[in-house]
This record gives sequence, structure tokens and C-alpha cells, in this order.
Amino acid sequence: MRLSRYFLPVLKENPSEAQIVSHRLMLRAGMIKQSAAGIYSWLPLGFKVLRKIENIVHEEQQRAGHIPMLMPTLQPADLWKESGRYDAYGPEMLRIKDRQDRDMLYGPTNEEMITDIFRSHVGSYKDLPLTLYHIQWKFRDEIRPRFGVMRGREFLMKDGYNFDLTQEDALHAYNRHLVSYLRSYERMGLQAIPMRADSGPIGGDDTHEFLVLAETGESEVFYDSQITDLNFGDREIDFDSVDQCQAVLEEFTSRYARTDETHDADLFAQVPAERQRTARGIEVGQIFYFGTKYSDAMGATVQGPDGKATPVHMGSHGIGVSRLVGAIIEASHDDKGIIWPEGVTPFHVGIVNLKQGDEEADTACQALYDSITALGLEPLYDDRNERAGGKFATMDLIGLPWRITVGPRGLKNGVVELTSRKTGESEEMTPEVAVEKVAAIYRAIG
Ligand code: ATP
Ligand code: MG
Repeated sequence: MRLSRYFLPVLKENPSEAQIVSHRLMLRAGMIKQSAAGIYSWLPLGFKVLRKIENIVHEEQQRAGHIPMLMPTLQPADLWKESGRYDAYGPEMLRIKDRQDRDMLYGPTNEEMITDIFRSHVGSYKDLPLTLYHIQWKFRDEIRPRFGVMRGREFLMKDGYNFDLTQEDALHAYNRHLVSYLRSYERMGLQAIPMRADSGPIGGDDTHEFLVLAETGESEVFYDSQITDLNFGDREIDFDSVDQCQAVLEEFTSRYARTDETHDADLFAQVPAERQRTARGIEVGQIFYFGTKYSDAMGATVQGPDGKATPVHMGSHGIGVSRLVGAIIEASHDDKGIIWPEGVTPFHVGIVNLKQGDEEADTACQALYDSITALGLEPLYDDRNERAGGKFATMDLIGLPWRITVGPRGLKNGVVELTSRKTGESEEMTPEVAVEKVAAIYRAIG
């Protein structure tokens, strides 16, 4: 993409309404525009990051054997009356009437709808296990929408639902989700810690939230510092293996890690004092096992091996896709702007032409652009007639992890400059070597 033809409405001034750095940087980098409280348009740069996160979630869900689909945003109230949650959900639910005076709602989550789909089409235990998911906009009329996309009213969520014959199978599904979530967050360059949580309006006994540590997080968290040494890495997991998934769950949840909602001071006191940590965290996902709560209420049964109708065991699992864009920025920025992890960066590399209109510089930039594109990577070429300082400031603000700087002086010696956004370190090399280095970095992360 050539910047002169792109739509990147960066702001020079700090927007006064933004209280936290991710909100400020998303506005300044032209990623989002508020349309109403807690409701945003995703401008092209923000939309690209959102799509990258979505793609990682899709890939990791499907790697774990979960099946993508799409349910609507608007739901009939009848389903929620069946489960009893129409009254229980309260003012966070946006209730709407259609022209026939039917009660509708903008879905805050989809347990009822997926249970209805299930009971309409699945009749036998032979069709289990089954895990379906979608990535869809949700609406919750939050009392205090704030922090930009972190606590929106309309937000994008991956929500998945497992259906199993037995509690044991459903707990395997729970563990499988925990593993696939760990993988997903790591690919986004994040450490998200599973913490024992409260079940809230979803209901159920077993639940973990995934929290990214950040000063601006809304939750207070308490944990054993050993937990931050864990990393999932690129280990191969057989998602069908009960033992392997169970082992990962034990590894990542056996140390003390809780939010203020479930914090137990006596248990925490048993963690060696030098390892006790109190911090703040951003919730980027949650997994639940809730047994037969919805299948009992809504008659979702299958014929078991004994021929009897058996209610299915269920769980639900959510990832805050749009919140993650903010969470990643909270975890990765400096005073100049965003620093995208390579896994989610909107463009792979920036090209800065120090002397637009200089024939040699223009030709070299175009050649770089073509060879990077030919490798299947996306460069953002700043081809505007602007001062170098302004171009660097824009690149730093929007946070592409790598920048190639091209100017007449370097070209006389046959070199360009490759700069890391994270370390700020620059190195001179031929254009061919620069392209190869960038390509190798992205090959390594798949
Ligand atoms: P919170 O406690 O932050 O209100 P929640 O526990 O009600 O969230 P879940 O039902 O667990 O949310 O939804 C799954 C994920 O969706 C959350 O982990 C979070 O990342 C994301 N999410 C929830 N509410 C919002 C919101 N208002 N704006 C953006 N993302 C949200
Ligand atoms: Mg939650």
C-alpha cells in the first residue's frame, strides 16, 4: 500500500477524551472513530489489526477441531424467556421491538441460540462431541463504556460452545479451549494468564479468565510470580489427547492466580512472600463449563448409548477480539506510539523514502515494494512529499515492527537502512539483504 493512496487520518494532538494510552494511540493512529458512546467505526488501519486477530483466533480454533459458523446479531426474546435469562440479564441487554411488536434483542452472547440450533438438529450421542463457534458483534449496554474499544458497548467476540455426552468429555473440551487460547494469545505477542474466576450471569462452576497484565487493567489480580515464567511456545499438542490437554491445564493453573472476585487471602498467604504479586489485568477471554444448565432449561438432549434421552453437557468460551486490539497496545507501546508484535501488525514493513521525487530513491523504493509484495508480505510505502521527520513520526506512531529507510546518500553506497521499531536499532545493508531479513522474520512466525 502506498500511503499517498491510503486512508490514515492520524491526529497531531492528543485527544482529550482518551484516558488510557491504547485509546489515545488508536485515535491518534487513525484506527478508530467513535460514532456513539462505546460504539466505533474501524478505520482501515484498525480494521487490518482486527482482521489479523480474528484470523489467529480462527486458525487456532480450527486447529483444536472447533467448527466455525455465524449466528445473527439480533435474536428473538422467546429463546431467552425459555432459559430464564430474559429477565435475569437486566439493563445491559439492548431490547428492541420489531414492526410486528415482537420482542427482539441485540445478542450479548449466544448460549440460547446455539442450544436451539443444537436441539433442532442433533439427536444422537453419535454426533458428539461437537464444538461450534463464531466471531460476531455483541452488544452490552455497559453502564460506563470507556477506554475506547476495551469497554465498548458494541464489541467483537469469538464465542464458542461445546456439546458433550458426559461431564468428563465436557471437561476435556474445557481443557482443550484453555490450550488453544494460550496458543492464540502467544501468537498475538501477549502473555495472558488463566485465573480462576467467578461465573457471573453465564452460570456454572468451572471457569477461568485470561488476563493480560497492564497498569490500566480494570481487574485487580493476585498471583504467584512463577506463573509469568511459563510460556506455551510452539509445542505441538494433540488436541484429541485428554492427557496432553489436562497436563497443560495443570501446568498453567496450578499456581495461585486470581482476580479480586475470587481472591482468597489465606490461600495467597501460602505462596512464598517473595513470589506474591499484586497487579492489574485486562480480561481478554473466559472459558466456562456449566454442565446441563441450558440443556435442561431448553430440552437439549441426545439419545444416549442406552437409548435414553440424556441432557448434553455444555460449556462456552469467549475471546474479546476487539478488546484485544487495545490490550495489545497497552502491553506494547512507548512514548512515540504503538509497537505491534509481528503476529498482528497491520503492515509487515514500512518503506520510507527520504527524498520523494529523486529518481534513484523512487526507483529503489519501488523495487523494494515489488520484491516484498512478491514474497506475500504487505509493505506500507510512505511516498508522500513530506519531511523525513514527519515520515518517521508517522511510522513510529502506527508502530510497524520494521522500517526500511531509503535515501540518496545511502544509495550512493548501495545501502538502505533497516530499523527495528522495538529496539530503535538501525543497520545498513543492501536492499536485497533487507528484504531477506524481513522475510526471514515473518517466515519464522509462520
Ligand atoms: P467484563 O468482566 O470485562 O465485563 P465479561 O466477563 O462480562 O467481561 P465475557 O462474557 O466473559 O465478558 O465475554 C468474553 C470476552 O469478551 C471477555 O473476556 C472480554 O475480553 C470481552 N468483552 C466483554 N465485555 C466487553 C466489552 N464491553 N467491550 C469489549 N470487550 C468485552
Ligand atoms: Mg468474563
